[in-house]
Amino acid sequence: MSALVAHELYRFFHTAEEEIFALRGVSLSLSPGEFVALIGPSGSGKTTLLSCLTGLDEPDGGHVIVSGERLTRRSETTRAKIRARQFGILLQSSILFAHLNVEQNIRFQLLLAGKAERARIDRLIEMVGLQHRAKALPTELSGGETARAGLAVALAADPPILIADEPTAEVDRDTEVRLIDHFEARRRTGLATLLATHSAALAQRADRIIRLHDGRVVDV
Ligand code: ADP
Ligand code: MG
Repeated sequence: MSALVAHELYRFFHTAEEEIFALRGVSLSLSPGEFVALIGPSGSGKTTLLSCLTGLDEPDGGHVIVSGERLTRRSETTRAKIRARQFGILLQSSILFAHLNVEQNIRFQLLLAGKAERARIDRLIEMVGLQHRAKALPTELSGGETARAGLAVALAADPPILIADEPTAEVDRDTEVRLIDHFEARRRTGLATLLATHSAALAQRADRIIRLHDGRVVDV
């Protein structure tokens, strides 16, 4: 079974003067163990697509199926439950709670998933190399450290699907290499990863590339 299927997604935005066609019939599927890069110019619909795939946004047409379960046109509560169980989400803006330090942010995510064990928190902090920053607040972190802390939070509950929106946009080369290694490690354990990226280095390491242009999937 596919981990994630999108069927003919449409999303329109209306502003005072214009109508923006952000997604115009996007279909895709993601299998367990696949690492797929989503590329396309700025404004092509990548973030909108990722939001619809995770149920953070509702498409105006089409539907999304996650591990056999329909996510689209369900109540907000149901979507949130499916999201918590199925997805690790790493967005462009930080997902860290500002009043919690790195360790507390990870613990909170684990509490939501009912898995808040000390050893697990330590392992996640070590995985992203933030042992020395475990007690730091988000405002005290560099861009790279923020991205790594976000990754630890996104992966805390061991989600079957990781969705990441340009996770390496603001990080240095070393951090990028480290993040790519994590994505590869996930692929080896059979987890699915979809990430929007501008990084050629990252796209090159993917099993498959999906290219968006003007809200449509185009041939790579
Ligand atoms: P990308 O992530 O590829 O840069 P986006 O998905 O952010 O592209 O945007 C796709 C298009 O939809 C752009 O034209 C953008 O301006 C528009 N858009 C995205 N979100 C909104 C919104 N909430 N309201 C109005 N327009 C939006
Ligand atoms: Mg974007």
